[in-house]
Amino acid sequence: MFSTLSHIFFKKQTFSFLGLIFCLSFMINKEHLCSSNHPFLTPLTVNSSLANMKFDGRLSFTNVEHAANDFGNRHHLMPSAVLNPKSISDISSIVKYVFDLGLDSELTVAARGHGHSLEGQAQAYKGVVIKMESLRVPEMSFQTGKRPYVDVSAGELWINILHESVKKGLAPKSWTDYLHLTVGGTLSNAGISGQAFRHGPQINNVYRLQVVTGRGEVATCSEEQNSDLFHAVLGGLGQFGIITQARIALEPAPKMVKWIRALYADFSTFAEDQERIISSANSFDYVEGFVIINRTGLLNNWRSSFNPKDPVQANEFTSEGKILFCLEVAKYYNPEESDNHINQEIDTLLSELNYIKSTLFLSEVSYIDFLDRVHVSEIKLREKGLWDVPHPWLNLLVPKRSIHDFAHKVFGNILKDTSNGPVLIYPVNKSKWKHRTSLITPDEDVFYLVAFLSSAMPSSTGKDGLEHILTQNKKILSYCGGPHLGIKQYLPHYTTREEWKAHFGDQWEVFCRRKSSYDPLAILAPGQRIFQRKKAFALQ
Ligand code: FAD
Repeated sequence: MFSTLSHIFFKKQTFSFLGLIFCLSFMINKEHLCSSNHPFLTPLTVNSSLANMKFDGRLSFTNVEHAANDFGNRHHLMPSAVLNPKSISDISSIVKYVFDLGLDSELTVAARGHGHSLEGQAQAYKGVVIKMESLRVPEMSFQTGKRPYVDVSAGELWINILHESVKKGLAPKSWTDYLHLTVGGTLSNAGISGQAFRHGPQINNVYRLQVVTGRGEVATCSEEQNSDLFHAVLGGLGQFGIITQARIALEPAPKMVKWIRALYADFSTFAEDQERIISSANSFDYVEGFVIINRTGLLNNWRSSFNPKDPVQANEFTSEGKILFCLEVAKYYNPEESDNHINQEIDTLLSELNYIKSTLFLSEVSYIDFLDRVHVSEIKLREKGLWDVPHPWLNLLVPKRSIHDFAHKVFGNILKDTSNGPVLIYPVNKSKWKHRTSLITPDEDVFYLVAFLSSAMPSSTGKDGLEHILTQNKKILSYCGGPHLGIKQYLPHYTTREEWKAHFGDQWEVFCRRKSSYDPLAILAPGQRIFQRKKAFALQ
C-alpha cells in the first residue's frame, strides 16, 4: 500500500511533504537495520528470541486461540503469541523488539481490548496480541472538584469505570450503548451513543492519554502536549500507538433516569423531532431511535429488556404492517428533586413532539441500569446460546441531506424486516465534536448514526442466515456508494487501498503522514487491513 503511494509520489516527481516523510523514514529504518542483530529472521528464531524476553506479565505461545476470535465471529486469524502485560514497559518492550526487527520481519502487534470488534480488527495473523485487560496500572484514580476526571488503564471496561465513579457521585459524560468494552477499544473508534449530540463521542471527553507508539516509545499526549499524536490516536483505529492510560472527563452523576419511547409512522416527522431535540439547548439527556419493520423475531428483544412490556402491545396499537420509527429519549434526575418538577419538564418537552399519541411509553430506572441495559439482554441471549453467533453488523454515518432518500431506499425495500436484530437511527451534531481526530464523519453538521445490528443463526440458509444478511449489507453499501450521498462507514471495514482512500477523502494524506511518524513499519493493529507490514516503506 505504502509502496504504491510512494511510487506515485516519485513517478510524478512531486516531492511533497508526505513523500519527504516516506523517504526520511525509509532512510532511518535502513540505518536502523544495519545496526540490528537480525540478519535473517524465520518465525522460529523470532519466537525463540521472544520467548527469552523478560516481562512483568506473561507471554504465551500456546492456548492463543481465543485471540483469533471476536464478537463478529467471522474472522479467525491465529496469532503466534499472546502477551498479558502487567506494566507499560511490557508493552513498550515488545513493540520496541518488533520495531528493532526492522523490515526483515513481518511480525505485527495488535492490542486487544475486550475483543468486541466485528471483522478481526483486534487480531494479528502470526503476530503478537496484547491483552489490554491484563494491564491493571494505573489503578483507577479520581480527581474531584471543578474539572473532575478519572485516570484509568486503557484495558479497563467502561462498566467498571461507571461503578467506581458513581461511588464518588461522578460519571463519564459520553457512553456506548454497551459497557463491556475497553477504554482503548472505543477511543480507537469514537464511542457514540445517545449522549453524543450533547457531549460529542467518547473521544471528545478525554483530557490526556499515555501511548506506546509503533517505535516502542512511551509518550504522554493531550490538547497541549504532543497534540498531533493525541488527535491521531483518537479514532485512529489503533494505527498510531497503543493507548495504555486515559484521563476521562467526568460530570456529576444523576441517580435516576426517566426513559421514554414513542412511535412514529412517518419518517420525516420522526427525523424532524429527533433533530429538534438535538438542536435545543434545554432538552433530553439522551436521544436515540430505532426502526421496526415486520418485527417478528426473538432478537429484536436484544435491547428492549429494560421493560418487559412492548410499548406497541401495551397501548394496543396496531401498526397494520407499517414501518414504524421508535424515538427513544431519556431525562436524568435525582430523587431529591420534586417529581412534579421533572414530570412537568418532560411533559413540556414531549408536547413539542409529534409522535403517535397512543404510543407513549415511560419507564423509570436507575442511572446504572439505564447505561448497562444491553448487558441484561446479553445475559438472556447467552442463556439461549444466541450471543456467540456471527454478527454481520453494518454501521453508517449518513448526512442529514441524504437521510430521507436513505430511509426511503433502504427501509422496507432493501431491508424487508428487522427480525435479525435492531436497526438504530439517530442524529448527532458535529459542531460539538473535536475536529482534528482521526475519526472520519460526513461533511455536514448534522448526521445520523444508522446501525444494522444483525445476528446470524449458525448454519441457517434462510433469511436469518449469514449469507442472506451479508447480501443485504452489500446492497445497502452499494446504494451508499454514490459519492454525492456523503455516507461514511463507522467502525469501517474495507479490503482495498482505494476504498480506504475514499473513506478518508482529503484526510488520507494526514492519516498516512501520521502513520509514517508514529508507526513507520506498520506494526500496529494489522487487523484493520489499512497498511501492510512488509510493504511499509519498500520503494519500487
Ligand atoms: P477491540 O475489539 O479489542 O479492539 C478494537 C480496535 O482497537 C482494534 O483494532 C484494536 O487493535 C484496537 N485497540 C484495542 N485496544 C487498544 C488500545 N488500548 N490502544 C490502541 N488500540 C487499541 N460502539 C459505539 O461507538 N457505540 C456503541 O453504542 C457501541 N455498542 C456496541 C455494542 C456491542 C454489543 C458491541 C459488540 C460493540 C459495540 N460498539 C459500539 C462497537 C465498539 O465500540 C467497538 O467494537 C470497540 O472496538 C470494541 O471495544 P473493544 O474493547 O472490544 O476493542
